[in-house]
Parts: sequence; C-alpha cells; structure tokens
Amino acid sequence: MHDVVVVGGGPAGCHAASLLGQRGFDVHLLEEHETIGEPVDCSGVIGFEAFEALGLPARLKLGEIRTLTLVSPSELEVRFSPPSPLACVVNRGAFDRALAAQTRSAGVTFHLGTKVADLRLQDGCVEILFKRASGSDRCGSKTGQSPGVAHLSKSPQGKIKARMAILAGGPRYGLQRRLGMGRPADFLKTAQTEAKIQGFDEARVFMGSRVAPGSFAWIVPFQKSNSSFARIGVSAKVAPLRFLRDLLARLRSRGHLDCLDIPIRSWVIPVRPLRRTYAERVLAVGDAAGQTKPTTGGGIVYALLSAEAAAETAAAAFERGDFSAAMMRTYQHKWRKRLGREIRIGAFFRRLAERLTDQEIDDLFRIVLSDGVLRAVTTRARFDWHRDVISFALRHPALGRIFLRGLFR
Ligand SMILES: Cc1cc2nc3c(=O)[nH]c(=O)nc-3n(C[C@H](O)[C@H](O)[C@H](O)COP(=O)(O)OP(=O)(O)OC[C@H]3O[C@@H](n4cnc5c(N)ncnc54)[C@H](O)[C@@H]3O)c2cc1C
Repeated sequence: MHDVVVVGGGPAGCHAASLLGQRGFDVHLLEEHETIGEPVDCSGVIGFEAFEALGLPARLKLGEIRTLTLVSPSELEVRFSPPSPLACVVNRGAFDRALAAQTRSAGVTFHLGTKVADLRLQDGCVEILFKRASGSDRCGSKTGQSPGVAHLSKSPQGKIKARMAILAGGPRYGLQRRLGMGRPADFLKTAQTEAKIQGFDEARVFMGSRVAPGSFAWIVPFQKSNSSFARIGVSAKVAPLRFLRDLLARLRSRGHLDCLDIPIRSWVIPVRPLRRTYAERVLAVGDAAGQTKPTTGGGIVYALLSAEAAAETAAAAFERGDFSAAMMRTYQHKWRKRLGREIRIGAFFRRLAERLTDQEIDDLFRIVLSDGVLRAVTTRARFDWHRDVISFALRHPALGRIFLRGLFR
C-alpha cells in the first residue's frame, strides 16, 4: 500500500506530489498521456510576481507582457502599461515538464500512459483502477525507463492502493461526482491556436458579442525560433470555435496571418469551484476543483497555491492517522482562506460583466479613457489578484452604475 496516489500530471498534481515527496511520503502520480505537458490547452500566461516566486528557470519564458490593450466592440482601445511587467508568457509544455522534473527529484514515482478509470473507498484505503494507453509498455521517455518512472503492471488495466488520493485531472468531474463532490456550476468554452503573426508586438484582448459572447478573445504574441508567433484564442459561453475562425479570418484579411489552415484545440475552463473539494481520503486540486480566476479563467497560479494547501492537509492527516471527511475539510478551509474572497468577488463580477451589452462595454471604455480612471486602475492592477480593481470599478459612480444595471434587467 502506498501513501498517496495523485491523478494527473499538470501543475496541480505535480506540485502537490512534489511537496508530499519532499516530506518523505511514498507518492505515485498517474498521468494518462505518454508525455508530461502534452497536449497544451493553455496560453501560458503567468503573473510576473508568481513566476518570480516559483523560482522557475528563465529559459521557460518566451516573452513578457508589459502592455495590455483592451479592445471594445466598436474598437475603442484602452492600453494598460504599468511600470513593471504584468505577466510572463511561458512555454506551457516545458513549464509542466520543469515542474515534473522537480517532482521526480522529490522522489515521486510517475506512471505515464496510465489513465485512472475509477476510485473506490475501501476499509483503510482508496483503491484506484487504471487503464494503460494502448501500446504503452513503459513510462517516461520513448527510449526507455527514466529515473522516477515505473510500470504499474504489464496488463492493460490494474489497481493501485493508497491511504489517500489527490484528484488533479483538470476539468473532468466523473470521479468527483461519484464521490459526491459534484461539478462546477459555471464553465467557459474555449478554442485556441498558435500561429506565426505579423504586426503584433503587444497582447490584445477583444470584447463584445461579435467576438466572444460572455467573455473575451485574446492575442498573446511571443518569440519562438527568432520569429513572431501568437496564441490566439476565444473563451465564450457558446461557439468559441466559430468566433475564433472569424477572428483568424479578420487577422488574415488585415495581413497579420499568412495561413488559415492551422490546428485549433477546443477545451473548457471551470469558472466556479466545486462546493465540496474533499471527500473521505480524497482531495481535489486545480481545475479538478474548479479553482481558477472567474474573471479570466486563468488557473495555473491558483492550482499551485491550492496544491500547497492539499499537501499540508495530507501531511496533517498522516500525522494524526485521520483520513475522515471532517479532517479533509480542513483543506477547503485552507484554500478558501487564501483564494475564497478573490474567487467570490471575481464570480460576482463575471455575472455582472456577462450581462453587459456591447453599448455598455463601449460606454465603460469611454469613461476609462476620459476621466483619469485608467491611471487609478493601472495602479491597482495585479495579474492574479483582481479584487482591488473590481472594488474600485464597482465603487466608481459612473462605472459602477453601468455594471450594476445588468442586475436589474
Ligand atoms: C485555451 C486555454 C487557455 C488558458 N490560458 C491560461 C493562461 O494563460 N494562464 C493560466 O494561468 N491559465 C490558463 N488556462 C487555464 C489553465 O490551463 C488551467 O487552469 C491549468 O492547466 C490547471 O492545471 P491543473 O493541473 O489543475 O490541470 P491540467 O493542467 O488540466 O492537468 C491535468 C492533467 O491530468 C491528466 N488527467 C486527466 N484525467 C486523467 C485521468 N483520469 N487519469 C490520469 N491522468 C489524467 C491530464 O492529461 C493532464 O495532464 C487556460 C485554459 C485554456 C483551456
């Protein structure tokens, strides 16, 4: 019997596993894909503060976001240019692999190509049922066994037992639902691509019902192999693929893109956390718990912070020999203490923002451009923490009136 099984080798799973490995626990991480960090469903934008705090190698950085331009439905532009960089653009695949390398150094055993199919609570343990990807008879690199990577069994399916499990499998909720943890109450749909681009040096965010109903579209430029590339994406309540195709066609007609035939990936982002992020012997972390910023859907930093709360709770459970639901609930208290207020206020703001008409979005832009609001917003803007800016906007007489109007419609 092992101490902890972690389901999923993204940022949440790797970080939780790493922290527990460092404390000397016997941790096994199961990842359904053969390679950590693939495929990528992310723009790889991480707040500058968080990137520095993580102490990750600078080579992961593809660029910095120093200026962000917001574009309204009628193409008014608000340009934020704070004194220090807002965020870094990372190679998300390499970022995940760097976290996984740290996790292996902490003594965690990886099982790649191993998909968790079910999880059952038993007397004194959790039993995890897994299936191996077809053709996968090893884990780690294609050329052989890597250090810290192991076989669970040669058969296509099997079981592994542990004293507890951490669910970090991203936005999929089958296991959580079976354990009575439910699923997030709100999601965004996304479509994103990466392409060579001309004439875009700065990140841009587009709003309005014709580009991204209920959310926004983005262009995040960065340099790769001495060429200019961008991640171009749409998050929306409905039909993001259609809106992304429209945006790509517009960019092409304006001479920014050469080719339209580029692969697009569609995915989802939870924008509300699970009501219950724990069960007896089980914790859910990261997207698996719906722990993202409801304003933008960014989730890397919240996943890492929640992983810390999960590792602390798991360590305390082992110390006391208590894996009850009541003990696991302390995890929910911990992450809510750090993120709960941000998420609640962010979710309220999302509800208001989703109801804005195109005309109201344009009016908000005009106010920001006209009376010095931009400077006030810029001084309060932090990439991962939006509470101050939201409070300012809702308390500002003209901005607040427009935001709150939607509540009474
Ligand atoms: C288009 C898009 C753009 C985004 N851009 C940003 C951004 O710029 N900045 C930001 O902070 N956030 C961004 N996000 C959100 C961010 O990607 C997630 O919040 C983050 O990846 C969450 O990390 P995680 O470890 O919880 O989940 P994931 O990164 O999804 O990792 C989960 C892992 O679990 C594995 N897995 C799933 N099920 C199983 C199973 N049953 N058995 C074994 N393994 C399993 C998956 O293969 C995956 O490797 C974006 C999301 C999307 C969709």
